[in-house]
Formats: sequence, structure tokens, C-alpha cells
Amino acid sequence: MNNKYKILLVEDDENIRIMVRAMLESAGYQVIETQSCDAAITLACSHIPDLIILDLGLPDMDGMTLLENVRETDLTPIIILSARTDETEKVRAFDLGANDYVTKPFSAAEFLARVRSVLRFSRHGADAGRLSQGKYQVQDLTIEYDSRRVFVGDTEVKLTQTEFNILAFLSEYSGKVMTYPAIIKAIWGYSTEGGVKRLQVNMANIRKKLGIQPGKNNYIVNELGVGYRMNTDER
Ligand code: CA
Repeated sequence: MNNKYKILLVEDDENIRIMVRAMLESAGYQVIETQSCDAAITLACSHIPDLIILDLGLPDMDGMTLLENVRETDLTPIIILSARTDETEKVRAFDLGANDYVTKPFSAAEFLARVRSVLRFSRHGADAGRLSQGKYQVQDLTIEYDSRRVFVGDTEVKLTQTEFNILAFLSEYSGKVMTYPAIIKAIWGYSTEGGVKRLQVNMANIRKKLGIQPGKNNYIVNELGVGYRMNTDER
């Protein structure tokens, strides 16, 4: 069950929180919940969710402020869930980097479709063309696209969804240098100042988990200041 998407739900209205949580869990997502912005920031750092669902009217801070703060350094997809139907509010949310905006009340079917859509976009490659079947192999590294599993030799390597997406994306373009902006755009949907830092942190984790050391197991080459390239050859 480690393969479930993890969703952070930030909503202070208990009835809505329970309802949304039930919707998400019945659709197979793992849900972490909180009622305040303050706790949301802590949870987002410790759990690294794949998606944040954010109410705007929260007790300790306006959700817009949280959205703005998160977007300064972080590209986690965010869906706003709000009773505010005003167009200027929606425009502002999108300007600040929201991926989608759902107004209350909403139907379960519509809401889950939006969640799927945002997650599908952020997990680039997994649904696309030749990546939907088969596997990629270089040296003793194997990537299984269907099951989203990664092995070094016979040992499975546990990657987060985002780490897997990055690895899958690089393998799709193996042999080519993918620039930081290209990777960031493909994985998170758009580019911000903080994106490179976030990519580098993810990449450092990937390299560590794959056991990459200078001079050996070099599946991924770091083209300093430019981007990353996945090796295709056996050496
Ligand atoms: Ca509220």
C-alpha cells in the first residue's frame, strides 16, 4: 500500500473534512488532515504529500497566504476548495500558483475527476505512450512503469511518487540532457524560482536510494548547472 497517493487535506469545517476524506479514501488515496494553516505547513514538510487540498477560510490564516508561502519554495500540486465563488478570488488563486479551484458545494464525481486530473498531470510519463508498458533497464537498474516499481539488482528501491516521476521522465528521454526547467515543468506543471532547489533535493534522494556514487552505478549524470541525463549504455 506504499504506492498510494498521499493527500494533505486542510479544512476547518468538520463536516466537509469528514466528507472529503471519505471521498478520497474510497477512491484509494491516503489522506492526512488538519484544520489550520500552521499545522498544514508542518505536515507538508514532514509528509511530502503528492497533493494539497486547501480551504481558504481557515482559523489561523487565509488559505491564500498559505498558498503564496508554499509556492515560494514548493511545487506540490494544490487544489483550492472554497465557498468563495468570486472570479477575482479564483484569478488570484491561479496567479499564486493553484492548480485547480473547486467551489462548494461540489459533487464527489466532479471533485475526484479534478483530483485525478491534477495528479495525472503531475505524474508525467506514467500514463503516456511507451511508458505505459514494459520496463526500462540500464546497468543493474530496472524501472517497471506499470507497477511504478524500481529495482537495483534484485532489491526493490522505495521511491516517493515524485521521485519515481522524475526517474521515469529521465528514462523516457534517456541519453539526452534534460534541463532543470524542462524537468520541473514536466513533473510539477510549471516553473518557479524555488523549483531547481526542490528538484535537486529530490534528485539527491534518488541518487542516495539508488546507491549512486561517483565513478560507479552512474545511471544518472549531473550536467552541472544545466540538468540531468540518464545513461543508456552499459558502462
Ligand atoms: Ca473554512
